[in-house]
Amino acid sequence: MPASANIPAIAQAHVSERAKKTLDLVEEFVEKECIPADPTYLKQIGEGAQQRWNAHPPIIEELKTKAQKLGLWNMFLPKNHFSQGAGFSNLEYGLMAEILGKSRVASEATNNAAPDTGNMEVLAKYANEAQKKAWLTPLLEGKIRSAFLMTEPNVASSDATNIQLNIRREGDEYVLTGQKWWSSGAGDPRCKLYLVMGKSDPHNPDPYRQQSVIIVPADTPGITVHRMMHVFGYDDAPHGHGHISFKNVRVPVSNLVLGEGRGFEIIQGRLGPGRIHHAMRAIGSAEKALEWLITRINDERKTTFGKPLSSHGVILEWLARSRIEIDAARLLVLNAAIKMDQGDARSALKEIAEAKVFVPTVTLAVIDRAIQAFGAAGVSQDTPLANMWANARTLRIVDGPDEVHLQQLAKRENKARKDELMTKLRWQAERADQLLLANGFAAKAKM
Ligand SMILES: Cc1cc2nc3c(=O)[nH]c(=O)nc-3n(C[C@H](O)[C@H](O)[C@H](O)COP(=O)(O)OP(=O)(O)OC[C@H]3O[C@@H](n4cnc5c(N)ncnc54)[C@H](O)[C@@H]3O)c2cc1C
Repeated sequence: MPASANIPAIAQAHVSERAKKTLDLVEEFVEKECIPADPTYLKQIGEGAQQRWNAHPPIIEELKTKAQKLGLWNMFLPKNHFSQGAGFSNLEYGLMAEILGKSRVASEATNNAAPDTGNMEVLAKYANEAQKKAWLTPLLEGKIRSAFLMTEPNVASSDATNIQLNIRREGDEYVLTGQKWWSSGAGDPRCKLYLVMGKSDPHNPDPYRQQSVIIVPADTPGITVHRMMHVFGYDDAPHGHGHISFKNVRVPVSNLVLGEGRGFEIIQGRLGPGRIHHAMRAIGSAEKALEWLITRINDERKTTFGKPLSSHGVILEWLARSRIEIDAARLLVLNAAIKMDQGDARSALKEIAEAKVFVPTVTLAVIDRAIQAFGAAGVSQDTPLANMWANARTLRIVDGPDEVHLQQLAKRENKARKDELMTKLRWQAERADQLLLANGFAAKAKM
């Protein structure tokens, strides 16, 4: 059954015919071209640091050419806000992102890969014409790659007011000094652009006006890439997660994005759609894990106690629970995407937070069951499951850890509802007492 026939009922009416056709094309491209290319991509990255950090796997460029011919390019830029993309809504691209999430190479092959997607959105939304020409155009064309540098090793970066990297103005230049780590994408030899968040006005009484975001070409003197961080032992080459220092790094003042003190505004604008993309790709990887689970439990060469695993009740329960959880998670994300399409990221804060927290938990549970079904092979290099689990685990930390989203969600829910609910429950208790008395019973103690 094509992907367009599987769109959940509540989302159907919001998806155009053009998007449905593209969705089916994405599915065909991912299933027939990208997933079979994944092992070649890994081989072309090669062995050893020298090779892996200089790799530009030819298979990616072949796939990019094919994707462009099919019109599968830059689908992520939401049509409500940008003219440079393929003209889809957040919901429509969300459905496509799920399918892209089933393959290692598919997002990059269609120019929908993080962190470039978020960075392109920042540039499309906030950059001036000269900045767009210099950086957005080559990114949209898939000619260069980029990184977003916010997190720092010496402060708790989930509270972005803690960011320390210093940005000071000297004449016509800004001078940057400080350290960043977990700068995803900085390892790629094609990464030419860093969007750096730092403090340009550290003494501003408003803690949300101290930060700025600035464009820094990756080859600017004073930048040192010290090392690449590993994720559960995976180096994620050639993409990588850089630990980078800035020592008196000078860039022209024209590299400032939007204006001094507008850094918070920029990061908030960046993260809404990105969270939907991450979540839908994660659901794609959960679906992929479920495919692996189903193949393993039906493998007749590998029976236990005389039966295939699919005949054991406990295993069938894993399959059923996985199906329910994935479907529930998808509905949550698609609901957030629809809400964003009807307003903007701010109007969908609750729904985005719900999806951001729930989806990785579900994805991890499903991948874990698939790993278990494979036994020792599940934790090895012979299936993609171990790597998929490692990636999914980072989603509980990246773009703000679970606890931050839970806290904000709970605070908003509490603030919005407490007065109304206290009043309602008090009124209901009084009314209940009246009814008890009217019917000859003793009244209960009031709230
Ligand atoms: C694979 C990967 C890729 C990444 N890519 C990028 C990137 O491209 N650019 C970038 O800038 N950063 C990136 N990061 C960094 C990521 O965004 C941060 O790690 C994240 O924001 C958390 O910041 P921290 O690591 O400083 O943790 P801390 O801020 O030190 O928090 C540590 C822990 O404290 C707890 N905590 C925090 N706040 C609260 C609270 N309010 N209540 C209760 N508990 C709380 C949480 O459990 C949290 O995990 C990446 C990280 C990973 C793992």
